[in-house]
Amino acid sequence: MSSIHYPESTDLRGLLKFAPEEGLIWLGEHRMLLLHAGALSELRKELIASVGQEQARRILTRMGFASGMRDAELSRRTRGSADPAEAFVMGPQLHMLEGCARVEPVRLEIDQPGCTFYGEFIWHHSWEAEAHVQAFGEVENPVCWMMIGYASGYTSAFMGRFILFREVECAATGVEHCRIVGKPVEEWPDADQLRPYFEADSIVGRLLELREEIEAMRRTIACPRKTPDLIGNSAGFLHAYDLVARAAVTNVSVLLLGETGVGKERFARTLHELSPRKDAAFVAVNCAALPDELIESELFGVERGAFTGAHASRAGKFERADGGTLFLDEVGELPLSAQAKLLRVLQEGEIERLGDERTRKVNVRLVAATNVDLLRAVNAGTFRRDLFYRLNVYPVTIPPLRERVGDIPTLVEAMMRRFETLHGKRLSGISDKAMHALKNHSWPGNVRELENVIERGVILAPLNGLVEVEHLFIGAAPESGLQQQLNASGSLDTMQQTNSIDLPDAVLDSGIELDAFEQALLNRAVERAGGNLSAAARLLGMTRPQLNYRLKKRLC
Ligand SMILES: [Zn+2]
Repeated sequence: MSSIHYPESTDLRGLLKFAPEEGLIWLGEHRMLLLHAGALSELRKELIASVGQEQARRILTRMGFASGMRDAELSRRTRGSADPAEAFVMGPQLHMLEGCARVEPVRLEIDQPGCTFYGEFIWHHSWEAEAHVQAFGEVENPVCWMMIGYASGYTSAFMGRFILFREVECAATGVEHCRIVGKPVEEWPDADQLRPYFEADSIVGRLLELREEIEAMRRTIACPRKTPDLIGNSAGFLHAYDLVARAAVTNVSVLLLGETGVGKERFARTLHELSPRKDAAFVAVNCAALPDELIESELFGVERGAFTGAHASRAGKFERADGGTLFLDEVGELPLSAQAKLLRVLQEGEIERLGDERTRKVNVRLVAATNVDLLRAVNAGTFRRDLFYRLNVYPVTIPPLRERVGDIPTLVEAMMRRFETLHGKRLSGISDKAMHALKNHSWPGNVRELENVIERGVILAPLNGLVEVEHLFIGAAPESGLQQQLNASGSLDTMQQTNSIDLPDAVLDSGIELDAFEQALLNRAVERAGGNLSAAARLLGMTRPQLNYRLKKRLC
């Protein structure tokens, strides 16, 4: 294990994509920032001045830890099938790509994830040591806290156990370079003194927690009965919620308007929960789901013998909702005869079962919903004008999801928790790129569509892993705008615009034969990898022997 070589970094560079026209930089699915080391140094200095060295060290260590954990995710994805040492050194390689230091491996003993680990590395020109010396001069103790956090976070996530790195030498103390050693936390005799730097439980953390608790309490006081079913904080959403909450205490009929999938039934349920009727029934009927000949008996009930097949008397939805709330979804689909009866119920407050002479008093609050333009239906003669005016007393429009993009992160978080529980699966979250794609989608199917997409993502994402773009959108959303990537000499190259969905079409349209296409693809990969066959094989998602075999086949 004396000499450790880094594999070609083509796969790493392929992860880094610049989209300057969009103002985005990606490392895999993580959003990155290119910021000035000098500015970060200032922040570091002010942090030390304002919360003291101990707290600053803790915050920076944890910040680095979080960043290392994200890079471990990339390693798992990109070099998951390589041998453990080759997969592991992706961490040091990424740390170098990110500009923190030149990382020289000294010793690396690594088995399969979960087993033993020992790692020793040298950091040349650590940015953090330089920043510290510039601000405070040479010091007695190591100071590369963020970078130590990174090494520990990366390795812990990689190994699936807490691996703690510490600096045994640091350039900030006047020596030539920093030297770090990492091993399982329990193998450090002074683990108890080191561990707190990695833990969230600190004065600052506790203060932040307290502040969050107070905020949460404030929100509860401001909105005391907000049901957990409805989630949102955007102005459009809160306005609709406010209208519903105000209607709840009265008996007014409410008409919920909005596109398909915006959550009209949830709003109707919320209205019921907020109303004095909350202990009585909430009955929902989808008018579009019932055939015309059944809808009247469903709504108003039927007496035995009313028509062939009516063997027993049965109460309709109105009677079942007595004292409570009846929700009529897609009310625009009601046939005209049922509309006439509905109007009478609303006017008289009584129903007549089919085939019955008697009238029965019912006390029902009606909430209707539609995604069609009822006024247009009135003008077309398919919806009664008098019923329209009766229903339209208190209209509430629920905004489409694309008009409340700010609510998407909270919605996604709640949906993920729900589907993780439902499918008995734990995930570490959602990638920046996937969240970016969710916010930029137009959501014609609204919250319901988002729900379906998130459920699919939760099912497809790897256990304990991140939900990524490809788990959400089949065929993955194509990249838009100018994309640039680092070439081997470290300059930016504009990438060819390849749309992953149209690629097969493009190949078919070109008339190129499969064999010729394969050859061109292999050649291009070898070219891009600068002749390094292992790297070319990685680009193609195959092993080196597989690539060799294919290349040899060509030569015969
Ligand atoms: Zn150092």
